Amino acid sequence: MVVVIRRHTSQEEIEKLKKKLESLGCSVHETVGENRHILGLVGDTSKIDPGQIEANRNVEKLLYVQEPYKKANRLFHPEDTVVNVRDRLIGGKNLSIIAGPCSVENEAQIVDIAESVKKSGAQFLRGGAFKPRTSPYSFQGLKQEGLELLKIAREKTGLPIVTEIMSVDMLEKFIEDVDVIQVGARNMQNFDLLKEVGRTNKPVLLKRGLSATIEEFLMSAEYIMAEGNENVILCERGIRTFETFTRNTLDLSAIPVIKKMSHLPVIVDPSHAGGLWWLVESLSKAAIAVGADGLIIEVHNDPANAMCDGNQSIKPERFHNLMETIKQLAKIENKEL
Ligand code: PEP
Ligand code: MN
Repeated sequence: MVVVIRRHTSQEEIEKLKKKLESLGCSVHETVGENRHILGLVGDTSKIDPGQIEANRNVEKLLYVQEPYKKANRLFHPEDTVVNVRDRLIGGKNLSIIAGPCSVENEAQIVDIAESVKKSGAQFLRGGAFKPRTSPYSFQGLKQEGLELLKIAREKTGLPIVTEIMSVDMLEKFIEDVDVIQVGARNMQNFDLLKEVGRTNKPVLLKRGLSATIEEFLMSAEYIMAEGNENVILCERGIRTFETFTRNTLDLSAIPVIKKMSHLPVIVDPSHAGGLWWLVESLSKAAIAVGADGLIIEVHNDPANAMCDGNQSIKPERFHNLMETIKQLAKIENKEL
């Protein structure tokens, strides 16, 4: 349930109303927008008598939220959420580009790639230190050493780092070292992990599960937000379908759908969606055209010898050319790079 406050209501009256709503057994989520002041009710609202709230002269109207996600719902927060990562903004009018290798392999590799993607205009560096691989015999990442190398690359370039967490016991280290904590597709419904990252205030990049519906995806965001962390960035990275030519099927329609239903920023991962380096440019352009707030792109300086996902990684020169195209598209979409 969403309570829309009448314009020009004093803060004192709003506080009284909040107390009253809380006394009905709900928690109150307040959003002060440019045009609307809103109190969203979270919890069991089934026993609340709407007439009792509507009778309050400071209440303009009540809206009923049908969806099971509340804090992630656009009705709770009509304006776009903008996540601040070391003073770089994701969401709203901003187009954010995250680039880097699938996994961190050594210092020269991550620093070289970081320097080149920065030159081309990327605002964030990606790189996996802990890798969720289908086979236990595949390269599992450099782990802690990978985090240290990412920090060196950040120090040299100033690019904030985005990297994946796999288990709760690494959380303290991630809070200290990392700028955006990525929760990968395979962990989208690891509810304990979601709750724990929800108890921090670090920006979280939440990837859509391999076979998750949009509603399930938003419910996972809700898990994080319900614990208090509202710095959630969603990532569409392709879903499993009957098609086998591409690694996954990029669900482009999910972007406008999510943006309609939720206020959270949504970025697209064209690399894991297509699984093929030559598809990255087309999928990136399509993602921007349907309203994505950014892209996360795998870039490798030697894809043929990459430890992981070389076949879907583009070389720095190709990334550079793609960034030139992205800059043109940003203008058409009225976005700032
Ligand atoms: C990744 O970004 O490195 C990754 C493993 O992606 P996903 O979780 O989408 O498969
Ligand atoms: Mn990868």
